[in-house]
Amino acid sequence: MTNCLAYCAHEAHADLTPLRIERRALRDDDVAIQIAYCGVCHSDLHFAHNDWGSTVFPCVPGHEIVGHVTSVGSAVSRYRVGDQVAVGCLVDSCQQCAACEQGEESYCEKGMTPTYNGRDRQSGAVTQGGYAQHIVVREKFVLRVPEALDLRYTGPLLCAGITVWEPLRTHGIKQGSRVAVVGLGGLGHMGVKLAVALGAEVTVITTSPGKADDARALGAHHVLLSTEPAAMKGAASSFDLILDTIPRKHNVNPYLMLLARNGKLALVGALEPLEPIHGALLAFNNRSISGSLMGGLAQTQELLEFCAEHQVLPNCEMIRMQDINSAFERMEKNDVKYRFVIDMASLSDVQVD
Ligand code: NAP
Ligand code: ZN
Repeated sequence: MTNCLAYCAHEAHADLTPLRIERRALRDDDVAIQIAYCGVCHSDLHFAHNDWGSTVFPCVPGHEIVGHVTSVGSAVSRYRVGDQVAVGCLVDSCQQCAACEQGEESYCEKGMTPTYNGRDRQSGAVTQGGYAQHIVVREKFVLRVPEALDLRYTGPLLCAGITVWEPLRTHGIKQGSRVAVVGLGGLGHMGVKLAVALGAEVTVITTSPGKADDARALGAHHVLLSTEPAAMKGAASSFDLILDTIPRKHNVNPYLMLLARNGKLALVGALEPLEPIHGALLAFNNRSISGSLMGGLAQTQELLEFCAEHQVLPNCEMIRMQDINSAFERMEKNDVKYRFVIDMASLSDVQVD
């Protein structure tokens, strides 16, 4: 075992503070990674605040991890010391069920192991995430970062990116598809960039009038204020796919109304009960709602290659690890443009007893 410095939530709503944590000794198929950068996802904030009631404290969040390999187990064949690698939202799964066999590990029938707040399948220890100097991960769950990707901007692809890429691919978004993205935050801004890169006509639906210029700069063709009923009415039945990234309970009916015939609303933000849905809105136009959870390993690797080739990168604000609590506060106030990324080198300035 080795230990390293991390930032940790000790109870709901308390500040994250530094702590030394243990990383397991390398198993044969393990890769040890020195973390260079870690993105800050709204899910990190949900877990730190125990919004979903399932947080096991102490909890080290972080599942948008990039860094370099520092050592490998004896059976590791795909990675060598020094390689530029990434780890996303999951670090293990059963590898035997139909979902795992089909490369949809996030839907593992035995339950995938999340990067943090999960249980290691062998030792039962609680998994701890990427707000740390190092991590040890099973080779299969380590992704290769193409040379053409700048590591500083790669972290957010591992969750924000793949979470919107999955529905864009599942629903066959291509040249001319009409896509709306609800909520211009971490997930939303990647949804805009990726849908534009796939050739879609993209509309941002936002509660923030001040984000209209940014939306266009990100590539969106249209901007709609969800707070303006007339504008919403004017866009009725006009989208093939809506990516709904709103991070809390909300009313989806005003968005369902915007779906064209056979349109889909992909709900990826609010993983909690919603306001009641009006069935007629689904029946008319044969609309449907789907949800999705991150994406599988192959699809995440595909996304990394796509982003390298098309140079699709998130807009990041780099922060020090010591600034995570104010970053969480700003995220709650909807003040992120558009993803915080922690520079883990800042941990070398932190002292703990
Ligand atoms: P974020 O950066 O905070 O962005 C969320 C955006 O939603 C905000 O920028 C805001 O955009 C809009 N919004 C916020 N509160 C709203 C409200 N009450 N009503 C309407 N719109 C509101 O968050 P994120 O990191 O993108 O994450 C979004 C959600 O996805 C979180 O709940 C997270 O836990 C979840 N998530 C799910 C998965 C999955 O696998 N399904 C993966 C990652 C994250 P505007 O200012 O444009 O309105
Ligand atoms: Zn996330």
